[in-house]
Amino acid sequence: MSRNTNSVLDHTSEELRQAFAREGLERFRADQVLRWVYGQRVRDFRLMSDLARPLRERLYETWSLGCLERESSFESTDGTRKLVLRTHDGAKIESVLIPEPRRQTLCVSSQVGCSLDCSFCATGRLGLGRNLRAGEIVDQVLHGAEVLARSGKEITHVVFMGMGEPLLNLDNVIRSIRILADPRGMGLSPRRVTVSTAGVVPRMAELGRALPVRLTVSLHATTDEVRNELVPLNRRFPIATLLEACRRYPASRRDRLSFEYTLIRGVNDSPDDARRLVKLLHGLRAKVNLIPMNEHPGSAYRRPEAPQIEAFAGTLAAARLPVTVRRSRGDDIFAACGQLGAPAPSHEGQTRLILSDKQKGNALRHR
Ligand code: SF4
Repeated sequence: MSRNTNSVLDHTSEELRQAFAREGLERFRADQVLRWVYGQRVRDFRLMSDLARPLRERLYETWSLGCLERESSFESTDGTRKLVLRTHDGAKIESVLIPEPRRQTLCVSSQVGCSLDCSFCATGRLGLGRNLRAGEIVDQVLHGAEVLARSGKEITHVVFMGMGEPLLNLDNVIRSIRILADPRGMGLSPRRVTVSTAGVVPRMAELGRALPVRLTVSLHATTDEVRNELVPLNRRFPIATLLEACRRYPASRRDRLSFEYTLIRGVNDSPDDARRLVKLLHGLRAKVNLIPMNEHPGSAYRRPEAPQIEAFAGTLAAARLPVTVRRSRGDDIFAACGQLGAPAPSHEGQTRLILSDKQKGNALRHR
């Protein structure tokens, strides 16, 4: 990682051209640098062979090409990988690569920790460290792309479902999506980006007006009493207020709003809950992702038995509400929803720790 915090990754191509111009450099130099970074995945100015050597040295001294260091990587038995990344000020954040036959999704963090303290979520217990800069979000995608490139694949989708509440860092989230969408950057269409919110009502419409991203709302309960417990933000924006904001969300007609619903045994998984959920979402172009609770140490919440999960999904399907039951990905490495920030398990054979090149040396020394 470079010493400089003036990061190329914090800039769209036009912003970088303007920044270079202010430093007396030709604007096209910015395009050359971006081709190396996003096209060739080169992270060292000194290796950019079509730049004159004095320019390479000058850029090396004054700019950085990344702001995160890959500390470790855990691979699940199902192929999911959790990347643990360290920021320049020593904070740890996590991203999760979720490989599927036809899409490669990276789940990114938007904050160090999270202030919302949802009771089923390991990240919430960390509290909020700080907001991530746009470049730090972009860098997560570059790290994910570098890991995937080893198997000849590319990231096709990005979801903001990692650590943090994206709408409480909305300006940087929007900037990062614009930088990722830049044709001279990764060229990732905002339509392949999903932003998840616990229900920060005042900022939902702002996101929808800024970018054609998909919105996912973490609902998790059908009464305010239960949701106040699971998602304390509900005390400020109760279910009726949240669903009213969903009805006003400026989505394209072909997009359905997604609702995440973590199923927790004995808390929100009853037949009455399923019927209430159908009623609450009536009239919305909605689909529901049911997420059987991903258990983690320190949480008393448990996953319902399979028949309860099937019955709940069956009630929604019978009411013609599109529903999927999310297959848990990466829960053996605590990379599944609600598990980020929990200490990674160390049981060998099930989980492999993949070390960054720098750490490989250290690991060898520890043996
Ligand atoms: S579920 Fe999301 S919003 Fe709630 S504490 Fe966890 S990271 Fe924050």
